[in-house]
Amino acid sequence: MTSQKRIAYFSMEIALDAGMPTYSGGLGILAGDTLRAAADLRVPMVAVALLHRKGYFFQRLDAGGWQHEEPAVWPVDDFVEEVPERATVTIEGRTVHVRAWKRDVVGYDGFRIPVFLLDTDLPENSEWDRTLTHFLYGGDLHYRLCQEVILGVGGLRMLRTLGHHRIERFHMNEGHAAFLSVELLGERLREANRAHVSGEDVEAVRTQCVFTTHTPVPAGHDKFPIDMVEKVLGAHAVFASRDLYERDGMFNMTYLALNLSHFVNGVAQRHAEVAARMFPQYAVQAITNGVHAATWTSPPFQELFDRHIPAWRQDSCSLRYAEGLPPGEVWQAHRRAKERLLYFVNRAVNVGMDVDVFTIGFARRAATYKRAGLLFHDIEWLRQIASKTGSIQIVYAGKAHPHDRHGKELIQGIFRAREALKDVVKIAYIENYDMEVGRLMTSGVDLWLNTPQAPLEASGTSGMKAALNGVPSLSVLDGWWVEGCIEGVTGWAIGADEPNPPEHADDAKDAAALYQKLENVIVPMYYHDRAGFIDVMLHCIAINGTYFNTQRMMQEYVLKAYFR
Ligand SMILES: *Cc1c(COP(=O)(O)O)cnc(C)c1O
Repeated sequence: MTSQKRIAYFSMEIALDAGMPTYSGGLGILAGDTLRAAADLRVPMVAVALLHRKGYFFQRLDAGGWQHEEPAVWPVDDFVEEVPERATVTIEGRTVHVRAWKRDVVGYDGFRIPVFLLDTDLPENSEWDRTLTHFLYGGDLHYRLCQEVILGVGGLRMLRTLGHHRIERFHMNEGHAAFLSVELLGERLREANRAHVSGEDVEAVRTQCVFTTHTPVPAGHDKFPIDMVEKVLGAHAVFASRDLYERDGMFNMTYLALNLSHFVNGVAQRHAEVAARMFPQYAVQAITNGVHAATWTSPPFQELFDRHIPAWRQDSCSLRYAEGLPPGEVWQAHRRAKERLLYFVNRAVNVGMDVDVFTIGFARRAATYKRAGLLFHDIEWLRQIASKTGSIQIVYAGKAHPHDRHGKELIQGIFRAREALKDVVKIAYIENYDMEVGRLMTSGVDLWLNTPQAPLEASGTSGMKAALNGVPSLSVLDGWWVEGCIEGVTGWAIGADEPNPPEHADDAKDAAALYQKLENVIVPMYYHDRAGFIDVMLHCIAINGTYFNTQRMMQEYVLKAYFR
């Protein structure tokens, strides 16, 4: 198997199973869905990430809505299998031993893609080095740097030790993995016994590498002091080629990846335009994200599709036949998915939600630009809609990064709104948002709300999960929604599409647009035009489910990036 030509996929996080907290959000979910689609399509890949033995974190919210974090320890050997091979990397002159745990991602017909999760928690390592693969996005800048060295350098060495010598392309999922390109340069120099990086070396590595950038938010682009990198990596020929990595005096992982990849892409059309403005010297293509259909479709819709569209698991495009699904059966499947969600919500937070009430869902990382509180910008207006136009209940979820004070305050703000509205609108905040909660929520609400500050949402994928389950979005025109929204057909837009949205979002204006759509269009349609609402649901599946899936996305990567 290992002699087969492969594509190697490197990602700091991969969501493989709800029981493995080895991901923090969209990036990891996308990585998992990418591999699930590749397995369906029999694309020969191998993937590398870190084990994250103590996970991202487990979220608890106190009575006031303040977030507390606990390590999310998980039973590693229940999910992954240790392989006997070992690799080493040098960090600050110390030899750090790396082992790997394997888990296969299996396609619908049994095709397997091995995923190797790197682990330094070995007795032969120092106490500190043993912690390097414990926490995803934990610790300080230096800890992060060491983790990225394990991922990029340790990951490639582990693949070689495992016998993967015929890797055609290396896909760096975000800049976290970019030390991989440094190790590819190192391999060439060691093989030829040379001490300096030549233009030819750079070209050879570029031909092998593909880079996907995932966010316009500056904090999403890792940069380290150059002397810190020199100290951690030790003497390396790459430091003589400053123009490969240096930006504003820092070692910049995004520029390293940009300079050493022959194909660079953003994750939606709009995001590629934004990224092209951020990095004007580089050609940034667009490959719009997707989600893995079989993973994100609720059991009631799986049964419905299995009955009427039997090919849907191997071919997401066949969901186009959803246009002809019997409306009554679609409504019943949706109702069952909604009951599953509300059963969970009522037991989790004792809120007494009712399946006949119009239900809005919002689940996001609690990052400031996602504006979780926009729905409560004018509490009186929302109260009026709920009491005059039609009843509303709202389900929220999302974690703030442990160091993000503003994000944590956003969650508290939702708790305050819940209190202020408690006589008219039932609001639940579900703790510890993860894949399983995401699956329940995106399939079980009636409307998926998305309110990022444009143009900062690179893609967003939760609305795609909702679409597969016939749940329309009400969203700011940013990220994937610029492509996915056909007004009144697949959902609804908040505000106008501006090619160059202003730097400072106008919350009052966006909130007003949101309330107007709810009040004049969506809530009346839900309660008084059921047939019209079901039509929108069918278009969500048939128009957006067929396109915003990772089978289509993977085929684009194969054609545009891997075999080019
Ligand atoms: C889908 C998903 C995400 C990403 O959704 P966005 O729309 O990009 O915010 C994040 N976390 C979980 C648990 C998910 O299921």
